[in-house]
Amino acid sequence: ADFAGFEPLNAKTLPQRLGQLPALLDTAGGPAENWQVREVGDGNLNLVFIVEGSAGTVIVKQALPYVRLVGDSWPLPLKRSFFEHKALTRQEERDPGSVPRILHFDGEQAIIVMEFLTPHVILRRAFIDGRQMPRASRDLGLFLARTLFRGSDLAMPPRERKEELAVFADNVELCDITENLVFSDPYFDAKLNRHTSPELDGIVAQLRADRDVKVEAQVMKHLFANKNETLLHGDLHTGSVMVTETETRVIDPEFAFYGPMAFDVGVLLSNFWMSYFSQSGHGERGAMQAYLLNGVDEIWTTFRAEFSRLWRGERNGILYQRTLFEDQGDHLGSEQALSRVLAEIWTDALGFAGCEMHRRILGLAHNADFETIDDSAVRARCETKALKLGRQLLVGRRHIHSVSEVNDLAEQLE
Ligand code: ADP
Ligand code: MG
Ligand code: MG
Ligand code: MG
Repeated sequence: ADFAGFEPLNAKTLPQRLGQLPALLDTAGGPAENWQVREVGDGNLNLVFIVEGSAGTVIVKQALPYVRLVGDSWPLPLKRSFFEHKALTRQEERDPGSVPRILHFDGEQAIIVMEFLTPHVILRRAFIDGRQMPRASRDLGLFLARTLFRGSDLAMPPRERKEELAVFADNVELCDITENLVFSDPYFDAKLNRHTSPELDGIVAQLRADRDVKVEAQVMKHLFANKNETLLHGDLHTGSVMVTETETRVIDPEFAFYGPMAFDVGVLLSNFWMSYFSQSGHGERGAMQAYLLNGVDEIWTTFRAEFSRLWRGERNGILYQRTLFEDQGDHLGSEQALSRVLAEIWTDALGFAGCEMHRRILGLAHNADFETIDDSAVRARCETKALKLGRQLLVGRRHIHSVSEVNDLAEQLE
């Protein structure tokens, strides 16, 4: 796409511009001039419209040539819509039913039309409201295992995987955001940073003077930028998950690229731990805290079990070939390799989780979990615990071997 004719949509022009598309007309129902169009607009980057017709409702998401949160002083390419669409397609292939159904894609206009998820709510919102969502952790563990395994050299034909790697390697600008915002900006006085001040000034100064923290954050950045292992979601926080009591869907994979499996795992776990630390700022939340720590355990346990199942049944790629193990009668060999791979994902995930905690409290993009705590002294107490756990995970990750060890550390801080 060359984007020469790109025009941002608005509530008035949307029915005129999209009103003839069969995919939209079928789902929303005509005539288009009767559509009710609302902009949702709680995202940081893009336009999202809810389009309601006589027969149903659809979502229309459009990228803008800049970062919505910041404005046109921060350009961001429209091609991110292409990567989002392609990643949604791959995720649907690899974990059917895990993402919204795609109804239409227009690369030139950076528009994705998709299924309107209802009565789904954003998982982060549910957690802030103190709602336990019984399916979320298990479904997310499955999503992680299936998408990460099936996009890698453990499963894919090598030519296909290398072609995908090359396509997603062009998502440079969104990777650049993560590389700066997650791994560097929190650790110095970067221009777009903010934190709860003056309450956190002391601990922030300490972290930024902490050489081990800075070095380990760069080790994580090195992994992020260079370990082109599988197709990542790239932004898998609890704001990218929509749930009901019985269903879980993952949205918004515009940061997708080939990176380390542990990144998606670490970001997701980190957001559960941050929600845990935020709970005391929202009220009497003992049951919710227990639910969240248990949720981390369930994500990791499910991930490990499903990844192991795929390892034993779908390991048809170029890595750890059956030729060397099962075909030689050496079942223990492939199990030993599996343990090693899982242990490395775990260790790296803790490092990414630590950076994610720091950046959500010290960087540009904060979490509603903490932001919705109005009393800044209370908020700072919650954030301090997360900053401390973040350091322990980032610097101490090689010595932490289980979820229960991390959950114990979290409970000690609480
Ligand atoms: P951004 O890339 O700008 O963060 P998102 O894809 O996260 O945009 O969408 C922003 C918001 O729009 C979401 O938080 C959610 O409330 C709503 N939304 C997005 N996609 C859907 C969908 N398929 N069904 C229902 N709501 C959606
Ligand atoms: Mg989003
Ligand atoms: Mg499912
Ligand atoms: Mg997004």
